[in-house]
Amino acid sequence: MNLILFGPPGAGKGTQAQRLVQDLKIPQISTGDILRAAVKAGTELGKRAGPLMAAGQLVPDELVVGIVVERLKEADAQRGFILDGFPRTVPQATALDAALAAAGRKIQHVISLEVPEAVLIQRILGRAAQSAEKRADDNEATAHRRIAAYRAETEPLKAHFATQGLLRKIDGTVDVDGVYGAIRAVVGG
Ligand code: ADP
Repeated sequence: MNLILFGPPGAGKGTQAQRLVQDLKIPQISTGDILRAAVKAGTELGKRAGPLMAAGQLVPDELVVGIVVERLKEADAQRGFILDGFPRTVPQATALDAALAAAGRKIQHVISLEVPEAVLIQRILGRAAQSAEKRADDNEATAHRRIAAYRAETEPLKAHFATQGLLRKIDGTVDVDGVYGAIRAVVGG
């Protein structure tokens, strides 16, 4: 099963991805997690990505596309994968389509978690308050910028996925179990 978890910052993609990992036994590929690890490790990638992430801006496509294309070649991703936070721009989606097609693979479902903006800000700030390891981008000003970047650069991808017949909209405002149940109704099992 090759899945994309799609939605704005704070929609709950990471939480749902973890449950899918456990039940479907396929890896979560989160570009946010990979980039945060690179920042922490102080790699060249991390040095380029860190300031952009802290400002709530997207990292350039050429940096993230290479990471994902390489990750998808690894052994554990051959039975399937859950992309979380990627693709985030139309060029990223086009590059993903090309890489998958070249490998004779394709996406089965794009799970779109639908959550209104006011709820997103509350959730992001709530997460910041609770979390032990503070994310540099979980503050109110940056949260607004991340949501603005989503609206401008990522939301247009919905039309791309809808045209491909892959878009599955899920109400992301209900509780975690409710959202998960709706996702499983789509992906099966
Ligand atoms: P969220 O969805 O909660 O904003 P993520 O962990 O997915 O958090 O991403 C955090 C930051 O990492 C983004 O604001 C952006 O700077 C960067 N990032 C993650 N994935 C991508 C991507 N596919 N393209 C560009 N930038 C990305």
